[in-house]
Amino acid sequence: MDITTSLQLLDAIRRADQADAACTAAGRACSRATRAAGEALTGIGRYEQQLAAAQDSERTEAAADALETARAAYAACTHREQTAKAKLRRAFTAARTANRELAALYAPHARGRATGGRRRPAVAASILDELAAMPLEMIQAADALIVQSSAGKDSLVMLHRLATWAAQAGCKNKVVVVHCDLGDTSEWPGVRELAQRQAERYGLRFVAIDSEGGLLGLVEKRGMFPDASRRLCTSSLKRDKANVLLTAIVAALGLDRQAIVINCLGIRAAESPARSRKLPLSIDTRTSNGKRLVLTWHPIFALSDTEVWEEIAAEGLEYHPAYDALMPRLSCVFCVLAGFSVLVRAVRLCWALGLPLPEKYTDLEARIGHRFKEQYSLADVVAEATRIEAVEGPLTWLPGDAICDQLGEAAAAAYLNRLALAA
Ligand code: SF4
Repeated sequence: MDITTSLQLLDAIRRADQADAACTAAGRACSRATRAAGEALTGIGRYEQQLAAAQDSERTEAAADALETARAAYAACTHREQTAKAKLRRAFTAARTANRELAALYAPHARGRATGGRRRPAVAASILDELAAMPLEMIQAADALIVQSSAGKDSLVMLHRLATWAAQAGCKNKVVVVHCDLGDTSEWPGVRELAQRQAERYGLRFVAIDSEGGLLGLVEKRGMFPDASRRLCTSSLKRDKANVLLTAIVAALGLDRQAIVINCLGIRAAESPARSRKLPLSIDTRTSNGKRLVLTWHPIFALSDTEVWEEIAAEGLEYHPAYDALMPRLSCVFCVLAGFSVLVRAVRLCWALGLPLPEKYTDLEARIGHRFKEQYSLADVVAEATRIEAVEGPLTWLPGDAICDQLGEAAAAAYLNRLALAA
């Protein structure tokens, strides 16, 4: 199957899935409306009986009023039921059309297999697997590649690989590196500038998106810290804003057909059980529509921590100094997903860098009366950092310490040498 057909099939699968889901939702709405109309009809019967049995004028009047109200409710319910049935008919027709289109498109490649609802995920998975294994062709087939960069180690290696593939495919002009800047009350100093340097090293277009107030502003506004189950910080500070840019990028392409957009993220399976359940390549059903088919690509999904560091060391890629202070991730300074010991180290690193963030966040915590985490407050974290600092003294580090920690002294020396030669 050629790549154009693969992409058309993925979009047909998306449309069929969406149409089936709309049909199921319309069916449920129809059942609810029919049930409500039945209940309203029962109410009419009840009040008719009360009216017939009424012995005096007061009861007669009350039953007549109730009957009138019940008849009005029934009329509203039947109208709702008619509307719901009409919507269900339209949804059913749309789903049948979408499924027929998918079947017609798939038939030449199906060799007798069906594309019904239950087979569809397997068909989509096999196409996506094939595409993920041919990065150059996929890049050539795309109209735009959006590389989401936090400037962290995973983004860095992903960017290196994508930039290399895009250069080999002759498609560097399609790549936009996007960095969501949460500002200096959320992130370590120099992150935005580093993201820009990392992109410019490959001559790629770089766009920074400002997120006013960052994490601190979001918490102030909501009066509570996000947590792992309600990661509003990622959705409202990063994903939603990046999606606005994606819409603008597609509009700027000025195509008279559906655009193929590949949204690249440096997520790895080894990071967490939740991430390991993601796929290297998937259809972004939330962002795709008639104007754009958006695929989410995790080009370094299978890499381990060590492999990421090995690539950084071997290629002489510039990483953020927070890693040399042995911060495991270049997240927000106080990331709501970080563990206690990482947060303690973040407090000590703030002190070493002269950043006022520990006080800012503990003040905020006291002001809104909501703890940073259910199990402990940031004040607890600061207390532990104070205790460790009294024993160990201030945090110190040297350039290359992250590589030394991960790969040993020789690798760190070779890395620093590479950087010096490249400077
Ligand atoms: S780095 Fe952590 S705190 Fe910051 S936006 Fe992401 S999940 Fe939220």
